[in-house]
Amino acid sequence: MNSFHGAMAVCPICDRTYFQDQPWKRVCIRCYLAHKNPATQPVMLVAPRIESNMLQRLIYLVHPDKHHNSEAANIATRYLLEMRGAS
Ligand SMILES: [Zn+2]
Repeated sequence: MNSFHGAMAVCPICDRTYFQDQPWKRVCIRCYLAHKNPATQPVMLVAPRIESNMLQRLIYLVHPDKHHNSEAANIATRYLLEMRGAS
C-alpha cells in the first residue's frame, strides 16, 4: 500500500503551492500540462473555492474516525485541512 499521504508542495517552476498527492508529481498540474504540450494555450485552472462552513462540514464527513482510519479518509482530511489553512 502506498505510504505517501500527500502534502502541500511548492512547484519548482512557478513557485505556486499545489497538493502533491503522489511522490512522483514534482511540479504543479499547470506546469506539467505546459511541459507535456507546449503548443496549447495555458490552462486556466482555478482552485475550487469552498466556503468555510462547507469546508468544515466536509472535514467532519471525511474524518478518519468515521471511516475506520482508512487511507482515503486520511488523505482527504489532510487535503481539506490544508485548504482550510491556506484560506
Ligand atoms: Zn508550476
